[in-house]
Amino acid sequence: MRIAVISDVHSNLPALEAVLEDLGRVDEILCAGDLVGYASQPNEVVDLLRRRGIPAVMGNHDYAAVTGEVEWFNPSARRAALWTRERLTEENRRYLRSLPEELRLTREGVRIYLVHGSPRDPLFEYVFPDLPQRQLLELVRGVEAQVILLGHTHVPMRRVIQGKLVLNPGGVGQPRDRDPRASYLVLTLEDGEAEAEFRRVEYDIDRAAEGIRKAGLPPELASRLYVGW
Ligand code: ZN
Repeated sequence: MRIAVISDVHSNLPALEAVLEDLGRVDEILCAGDLVGYASQPNEVVDLLRRRGIPAVMGNHDYAAVTGEVEWFNPSARRAALWTRERLTEENRRYLRSLPEELRLTREGVRIYLVHGSPRDPLFEYVFPDLPQRQLLELVRGVEAQVILLGHTHVPMRRVIQGKLVLNPGGVGQPRDRDPRASYLVLTLEDGEAEAEFRRVEYDIDRAAEGIRKAGLPPELASRLYVGW
């Protein structure tokens, strides 16, 4: 069985479309949160993910867009969150509000745990790829799953700790590892074993950047897409 894992789409429709086209044959798609925020097409992104029936968890930007609680954001993220909040349709607002903070699934006998930030702080804590093993162990110790899927950092990650595979697919809509291509992964489950393949996809950055500028969103949200930071 093959499961595509995406995260941090951040209202970037051209990037999401490119990833969905690139997937090939997969049995399921999971989304680790932050559907909205930053770019200019929140409703189009949420509509597409809902239409495809893609299970998702809530990210901090999704939370901010539905609650208006933005005080922890930097100024451009704050502006984008409030801009998004004004534009979300009632239906999409309700959908984002309904997203769970964690998802637990079992596929082919493999237990999978999905969260945006970290198991102890689902919305806000960052788990970067260089987190020392001891701290990572602390985070995942209580999670009864073989595969732990995270988002939030926009940086791809693969770690193995106590037999648990800890993965972050990187960012679809705003990669932050200095590679501007949209990032995602495909999880293969076979005979109770799990392995991940990381993928990068070029997309029409001009289209996304122009949308951001035309919407009057902070221009640095457009320029950073070209450098993947
Ligand atoms: Zn994010």
